[in-house]
Amino acid sequence: MFRKVCIVGCGLIGSSLARAIKKKNLAKKIVSSNRSKATNEKVIELKIVDESSSDIKKMAEGADLIIISTPLSSYKDVILKIKDCLNSETILTDVGSVKEKIMNLVEKNIPENISWIPSHPIAGTEESGPEAGFSNLFENRWCILTPNKKAKEKDINLLKKFWETIGSKVDIMEAKQHDYILSITSHIPHLIAYNIVNTSLNIQEEKESAIVKYSAGGLRDFTRIAASNPVMWRDIFIQNKNNTSNMIDKFINNLKDLKKAIENEDEEKLEKIFEKTKKIRKDIVAAGQDIEKPNFGRK
Ligand code: NAP
Repeated sequence: MFRKVCIVGCGLIGSSLARAIKKKNLAKKIVSSNRSKATNEKVIELKIVDESSSDIKKMAEGADLIIISTPLSSYKDVILKIKDCLNSETILTDVGSVKEKIMNLVEKNIPENISWIPSHPIAGTEESGPEAGFSNLFENRWCILTPNKKAKEKDINLLKKFWETIGSKVDIMEAKQHDYILSITSHIPHLIAYNIVNTSLNIQEEKESAIVKYSAGGLRDFTRIAASNPVMWRDIFIQNKNNTSNMIDKFINNLKDLKKAIENEDEEKLEKIFEKTKKIRKDIVAAGQDIEKPNFGRK
């Protein structure tokens, strides 16, 4: 499918992609570029890529597919370094979790004839680095493409085929819509997890109570999400600032409603809300987004 694929940032997502590309034989050569010697050596030791170096220009030169898989805050640095390696044959994509701002940033800094087709695989774990990746991470997961207006139709189709070949279901949408949807399906749930765990830590410090010891209830599931990559999530909230902020307002309004219902011992209201939310779990399982009994690390 491709002559040379260059993965800039071969961590959890980048190395999972490299593994999937190898498994499906989608490139003659796979290379990666990371800042540290340790990561570049690790990806060679694990046989994830054929060549890896911090010399990003050298790695990107001649690649017909370049995938940026670094934290969002590094995009400017990355794009300024690779822009002279891009030509009309290059498809440039990424895997970033927020789209609108970075789309504009990249567009401003690349030649006009480049097919810039951002991707967002809605797949991941709370782990980081090349050792955490695995080839079937994208299987049966959605991948959203938000192509730049100047991207060539044939390149959009090829990239779509690429994601489908490694197991993803692909949707195409506007970056703005992507960021709005993801703010409630992914970003706010992470923020809630960060805040619950942070609140429980404050209580533990204040009361010296054994929160960790008795955390087998709901808190444990939130700690998994709250253990996600801090740099990545810092960047996501800042990049999707407006949507996140608006969703927080909606969330606070609903929380105030729940608070009032509890204070008023409004059984009917509480039950009605909980019945409604229970149904969505069934809908998610029916849509194939989860299995009926996920183990949540309890195996
Ligand atoms: P990760 O495991 O921390 O990997 C990041 C990789 O990028 C590392 O190999 C790091 O190696 C390298 N790197 C960082 N800054 C760099 C730079 N300036 N130039 C070159 N390489 C650089 O992160 P990840 O979880 O794979 O996330 C990567 C991207 O995927 C993010 O944009 C995130 O929004 C997106 N994403 C993540 C998930 C998820 O669940 N994790 C899901 C969907 C999308 P060095 O430190 O050696 O440079």
